[in-house]
Amino acid sequence: MKLCVNKDLCLGCGQCHALAPQVFEIGEDGLAEVMVDEIPEELLEDAMDAKDGCPTSAIEETVEEENLEEAA
Ligand code: SF4
Repeated sequence: MKLCVNKDLCLGCGQCHALAPQVFEIGEDGLAEVMVDEIPEELLEDAMDAKDGCPTSAIEETVEEENLEEAA
């Protein structure tokens, strides 16, 4: 699974970094960034907790292009 942060929604509250410090960091712009391309299995639970816990739902799952084609 891949995740991304919608910076238009992110408040920079740091909660995602607190819950999953190996997945999210707060960048120089003060907003969250995803540090890993593919979320490793062992970090998935923390990453999902962070995604679900984000107050503005700024953390989104990246939909792969091939999945988009399948859905079309
Ligand atoms: Fe941004 Fe959400 Fe992370 Fe807070 S929890 S820093 S709003 S992505």
